[in-house]
Order: sequence, then structure tokens, then C-alpha cells
Amino acid sequence: MGETHPHVWAADAIRRIQEDGRYGPPEAPASAGPREALTPLRRLSAAEGFEGVEGVDIYLKDESALPTGSLKYRLVRAMFGEALTGGRIGEGTPVFAATGGAVAAAGARFAKLLGLPFTAVVPAKTPARLLERIEAAGGQWQVGERPPAAVQQEARELADRCGGHLLDHFADAERAVAGWGEPTIADEIFHQLRGEPHPVPEWIVTGAGTGATSATIGRHLRYHGRPSRLAVVDPENSAYFPAWASGCDDYATGMPSRIPGIGRPRTEPGFLPSVIDLVIPVPDAASIAAMRRLHSAGIDAGPATGTALWGVCHLVARMREAGKRGSVVLVLGDASEPYRDTYCSAEWVRARGLDPAPYEADLERFARTGTW
Ligand SMILES: *Cc1c(COP(=O)(O)O)cnc(C)c1O
Repeated sequence: MGETHPHVWAADAIRRIQEDGRYGPPEAPASAGPREALTPLRRLSAAEGFEGVEGVDIYLKDESALPTGSLKYRLVRAMFGEALTGGRIGEGTPVFAATGGAVAAAGARFAKLLGLPFTAVVPAKTPARLLERIEAAGGQWQVGERPPAAVQQEARELADRCGGHLLDHFADAERAVAGWGEPTIADEIFHQLRGEPHPVPEWIVTGAGTGATSATIGRHLRYHGRPSRLAVVDPENSAYFPAWASGCDDYATGMPSRIPGIGRPRTEPGFLPSVIDLVIPVPDAASIAAMRRLHSAGIDAGPATGTALWGVCHLVARMREAGKRGSVVLVLGDASEPYRDTYCSAEWVRARGLDPAPYEADLERFARTGTW
């Protein structure tokens, strides 16, 4: 057998990525929607204890059904595609990530799929649960020697020394998703809403980490001329709400977000304020209260989805006040598994000085009566 030409290897690698997860998880219910979507769109039905919000259908785009359990899988999938067509990942290229989070789990999965070595350089104190997730996806990890803020630079140097490729989701994810040829999360949402009572949602609601997901949805609305509006929910300490509200696009708070996956200490290049109609600041304790509300409705979601639900309640209440019927879609970015010992533990939450109780009462009233 002759050696594989690098272009042929890249094309084959891209096909393999496109095949991955194509038919969704085997346990997806028949109601999960057409098989051409990677993840199901589920309706928060009256049976789940939201009978008060009659007249407005709330849907969850369940990204926890992606093969590595987080919407970061979509971003990393596109980033691999982009690096393959751009000649930055080839046969044998070692791949790195500078996080122990969901990007590392997805990076490990795609690297394994392509037979490439993968290493996550992780901050000290990365929870064991996350490290196990990287291993389970076929990757390795090592603890960074520098302080957490410098782990990114450390990973970059490591990658440079061995001719490797660093997955830099804050720098690259938004453009990679925009240029990737596959249907986006927004394409899937509109496809899955066809045939529903209100197939064009009034609002689509998501959090922003890299900004790629909100940018993808915002671009879709313009490309296809859809009248839906886009809301971003933003946790405490994040730069996104002040940046959006002030029009200052290099705003920095310098403070880390406490809601995993969303909110940033500074505006990232993938955050596109011009496509966002509304940014809703959400208290961290309210995010946790809303996550608990989802759990008691039988919906497995992480804290960032709680943040999104809080924003959705606000918007649905406004629709109802205006006598409007319609639908609202929120992005469920991941499930609760990675947070079982932290955000899902009442003791852990209390030890951080967070008190969800007053917000839980607000949510309960909203779920029962639809008023806010
Ligand atoms: C990353 C993340 C988001 C936000 O997605 P971006 O495209 O990075 O803005 C939302 N929810 C969860 C759980 C995430 O991990």
C-alpha cells in the first residue's frame, strides 16, 4: 500500500467526523424529531409542571444528547473540520486543549476517531469527574505547572514544540462553526419546529461562553429572514451584559463567572453583540433555583440551562402580559452529571453563600400561574 496523500487523509478524516453522532443517541424517543438532527427538541409540557404558562410553548434544544454530553461538541466538531481543511491538523498531528472542561472531552473524542494523540492541559483543582470524562473519551490530561490564567499559554507552547495543534475555542469556534458546511443548531431548531403550532419562535434563548452558539443563531435569523428574536442570558460577573448594554465591545470585568460554560471576564472575539436583541443578566442563585426547577420537572440539565430558563420565564411573562401566543426555544447546553458534587449539592451551594430559595418561590409561582 502506498502512503496516503495528505489531502486524501484530510477528506477521509472530515467524512469520519461527519459520520459521528449522525443518528443521535439510541435512547432518543421517537418524538425526538427527525433523524437528521443531532439532538432532540423537547417541549416543556404541562405534564412537567408548567401548566401555568398556557398559550406559550416552551421547547428545549437538548444538546446534552450530543456524544460528549455538551454543546461544546458541536463547536469542537467544526473546529476539527476547519483545522483539517486548513491543513493545521494532518495525519499524526498531536492535538491539545487548555481546559479540563467539555472542550477537552469533545477534543479527545474527535482525536481518537482520527487516530491522533490528544492531551488536555488542565488547571490544578480540576475535578476528578472532569478528568475521568477526558479519559473515557480516549484522551490524556496533565496538570498545568503555571497558574490557571497561564495554562492556555503553557498548552500553546507545548503544542508548538511538537508541531501540534491547540484547540482554542475562544479564538476559533465562532468562525469555525460559521464556515463549517453542516446544518447548525439553528438549522436544526427551525427544522424540528416545522409542523408545531408555532413553528417560528418568538424568542430563542441561550447563554454565551465563546459566543459561537448565539452568533450562529443570530446569523441564521438574518440569512433566512426569520423574524424570531435572540436573547442571551448572562450570569453575574460576566462582561457580556455590560458590553452589550454599553456598546463597548472590549469590556472586561476581570471576574470569573460562577456558572460553568457561560459568562466571561472579558468579551471574547466570538461574541457578536450586533445579532443579539436582548441580554438578560441573571443572578447566580436564580440560575441554580431554575436548574432545580428543571430537575423537579424531570429534565436533566446543568446550571447554565437554569440561567436560560430564568431568562425564558421573564420573556414568556412579557408575552403573556401582551396577550401574545407563540413559542420560545431555549438551549439546554449540558446535563447535571458533571455538577453532581457541586451545583447539584445543597451543601456546596450554601457554602458559596448562594441562596436559591427566594428565586425558587418566584419560579414555582410562575410555573403555576404564568405570572412573574
Ligand atoms: C459553552 C456553553 C454554552 C455557551 O456556548 P458558546 O457557544 O460557547 O457561547 C452554554 N451552555 C453550556 C453548558 C456551555 O458549556
